[in-house]
Amino acid sequence: MGALFVKLHSPVETIVFEGHSFYLKRDDLLHPDFCGNKARKFHYFLENDFQDITKIISYGSAQSNAMYSLSVLAKTRGWRFEYYVKHIANYLKQNPHGNYKAALENGMHITENRPVPIPADNHTLLIEEGGHQKEAEYGIKVLAQEIIDWQILKGIEELNIFLPSGTGTMALFLQKTLIKAKRVQIRVYTCACVGDNSYLKKQFFELEENEKYHPALLSLEKKYHFGKLYRENYEIWLKLQQETGVVFDLLYDPLGWRTLLAHDEVISKPTLYIHQGGVLGNESMLPRYKRKYKNIECIEGVGDFWFVAKQ
Ligand SMILES: *Cc1c(COP(=O)(O)O)cnc(C)c1O
Repeated sequence: MGALFVKLHSPVETIVFEGHSFYLKRDDLLHPDFCGNKARKFHYFLENDFQDITKIISYGSAQSNAMYSLSVLAKTRGWRFEYYVKHIANYLKQNPHGNYKAALENGMHITENRPVPIPADNHTLLIEEGGHQKEAEYGIKVLAQEIIDWQILKGIEELNIFLPSGTGTMALFLQKTLIKAKRVQIRVYTCACVGDNSYLKKQFFELEENEKYHPALLSLEKKYHFGKLYRENYEIWLKLQQETGVVFDLLYDPLGWRTLLAHDEVISKPTLYIHQGGVLGNESMLPRYKRKYKNIECIEGVGDFWFVAKQ
């Protein structure tokens, strides 16, 4: 498979949700195989010259979006891809689906319950879990420039940007790039989906010591655990689909939207929500919701899942 000849560039749409108008940056539409948050973060590895590299090693969960995107990157560049996980659920092994299945189909070599080898040669790239590393800044700068160009074209002065965070890499580099480009009228807001605010702050500091480049944190009162199922999360996900026609991811976006909607001071100004992809992961989340909440019915269409609440 040759190089992925794509110019990563995504459209901005206008949507109305819960009576508010939002701009939506459709990074989920960047490319059918390489999209969303991880495409921006791994853009650097797609475009730059790595003559000596033959292999990438990474680690994380067996359903991660980063794992799938790395499998696309490795396949595209003709590299071997080795991925380390703590554990693969038996159910997943027996019924491969979602990111796991797609990454295996791209030739991923997965290893369970072994330490991640630290490469000592110069043929191997080690990629941090979730792409939390400085190379991510390269592709996020491209995203920031797209937003700046759009904002100028639209004549929007003040703008709030919102996106839900895992490692905080995307939110941090986005805010940093905008400040460095002197776009002080654009403010980046995020919320912690993995861990709490102090964990997210720590993640920001690992990538950037100067706090003036950090995004602003928003939160809800109740604590949510990453990857767990909450009826409120499912309900807002469904409502988003019904009101806007856009399918969001089930891990980050429900908490993201719920947090954003609870902050009137943010959404009273023009607000741009970044759709960071991850929809392939819904293939594992939706059946879990269906099993947990019996009065939810799942209708599987062609490549799409639709849920309806039983009356
Ligand atoms: C990885 C990911 C995130 C979290 O991004 P960070 O840069 O780690 O904060 C959010 N949404 C989706 C869909 C992702 O794949």
